Amino acid sequence: MYLLLAALLFGPARADPTRADVWLAVLDAFPADLVDAVADKLESEVQVRVSRVARPIPLPAAAWYAPRQRWRADRLLDLLPTLVPQAAGARVLALTTVDISTTKDEHPDWGIFGLGELPGDAAVISSFRLRKGVDAATLRRRVVIIAAHEVGHTLGLPHCTEVGCLMLDAEGGVANTDTGTAHLGPACRARLDRGFPARER
Ligand SMILES: [Zn+2]
Ligand SMILES: [Zn+2]
Repeated sequence: MYLLLAALLFGPARADPTRADVWLAVLDAFPADLVDAVADKLESEVQVRVSRVARPIPLPAAAWYAPRQRWRADRLLDLLPTLVPQAAGARVLALTTVDISTTKDEHPDWGIFGLGELPGDAAVISSFRLRKGVDAATLRRRVVIIAAHEVGHTLGLPHCTEVGCLMLDAEGGVANTDTGTAHLGPACRARLDRGFPARER
């Protein structure tokens, strides 16, 4: 007992168990306090290990969608591995303030909060559609939920129907985000545990 206690007190510091590695990459610009909030949320809610790309990355011209004067999220996801080569073998979540869009059902170019590969290595979120008319605390809550949602997709979580779960489909609005619990429901957490069990690394 005393030996065990001594080992606990003096043993090497251990990192928290983690499911996967995620790099945060700012595209063009993103408020530093929101980058911090996203990192905290991903570590606490999704249990991933977060690293940060040191400098903002310019938005790639190849993702510009001139007809609507905004940026194609699907192109950004395709380009992220070349924009963030240091994240090879890990996931990348890009953070930006510009308007992003993708093809959705019959809409060729639909503005979105975020997009994540299901499953895959790349995700992107934008504060553009989240920040209008809300205070800083509401914006922060929305941003961290959308970030966890898109990283959840990359870890194999599809949209779910659990009441209040952050993997609910946004259904074209922010109501599910604002009225939800801001947490993964038990079914999504169990699915994550099966697909990406948290381990000491
Ligand atoms: Zn989604
Ligand atoms: Zn769920």
